[in-house]
Amino acid sequence: MVKNTKCGDIFRLNPNVDLHIHTTASDGVFSPVEVVIQAKKKGLGAIAITDHDTTLGLSEIKDNELNYDKGNIIEVVPGIELSTSYQGEEFHILGYYIDPKNPFLIKELDKFSDIREERVKNILERLKYVGIDLDYYEVKNSAEEGSIGRPHIARILVKKGYVSSETEAFEKYLNPTKPGFVKKEKVTPKRAIDLIKESGGLAFWAHPLVSSKNSHELLDDFINWGIEGIEVFHPEQDDVYIKKYWKEKALENGLLVSGGTDFHGYDKSSVDIGDVSIPYSCFKKIKEKGEKDKKL
Ligand code: AMP
Ligand code: ZN
Ligand code: FE
Ligand code: FE
Repeated sequence: MVKNTKCGDIFRLNPNVDLHIHTTASDGVFSPVEVVIQAKKKGLGAIAITDHDTTLGLSEIKDNELNYDKGNIIEVVPGIELSTSYQGEEFHILGYYIDPKNPFLIKELDKFSDIREERVKNILERLKYVGIDLDYYEVKNSAEEGSIGRPHIARILVKKGYVSSETEAFEKYLNPTKPGFVKKEKVTPKRAIDLIKESGGLAFWAHPLVSSKNSHELLDDFINWGIEGIEVFHPEQDDVYIKKYWKEKALENGLLVSGGTDFHGYDKSSVDIGDVSIPYSCFKKIKEKGEKDKKL
């Protein structure tokens, strides 16, 4: 068990709470139930399921969680990760303890889903110009009912032998300036933060430095827009000075500190569930605020 409980310490071994995980409900490889089983095997105390623009994976967990291994409980935080755009750059906002049944949230997420489907169709049109003809329904079915995105196209490009990895698919075809890139219509960070709060959740700024080199200049904006925490610990922010900087900024501004793996599966990186985490004592502050806000 983890002994040191200072908020923000890094545990690569014996991790305890991983607050950033994707499932098949968006572009993760494992189903929500598989993720929960894996997290239990790793001995985590809690995880957050944070799929892109959807809460569809959450109901599956709840039902199965009740039936699975009653003696070995793991807390599953109902979460989401919303993509937003500001000054030409993409920023992600994590929501924890959202109410997936909130009618307003459901309506907004339906709109996001339509935008994603339209974008995938446009990407496939563009890929035709470089001699790649993929069937929209093959891509759509691979995403099942979940949030469809570029990773689903990338996986089919691998499957059909156009590229040898998802990373190569992004580098050759799907990243900005590449032949299949289509910009996604996105809401502003403020809009996403409001939406999460209106749905009873806590809004966290996800991996600030992954999104922009100038994130430090935007902190005041994000605070004014109402973020309640910052995701300090993330595999792509794995530098001691960066972590120190963002943790200090969070604490100076009375914000909560979060962290997690952003786990999607094993193709994108070798990071496994729980490899980046925060101690339960740190998570407890998030949980207390998340649950308290819900009761208001
Ligand atoms: P989308 O929401 O359709 O724009 O897709 C964004 C998702 O694609 C991200 O959340 C990542 O999971 C994934 N992604 C982005 N860049 C890469 C990359 N270079 N290799 C593999 N996956 C990537
Ligand atoms: Zn993703
Ligand atoms: Fe993200
Ligand atoms: Fe993510």
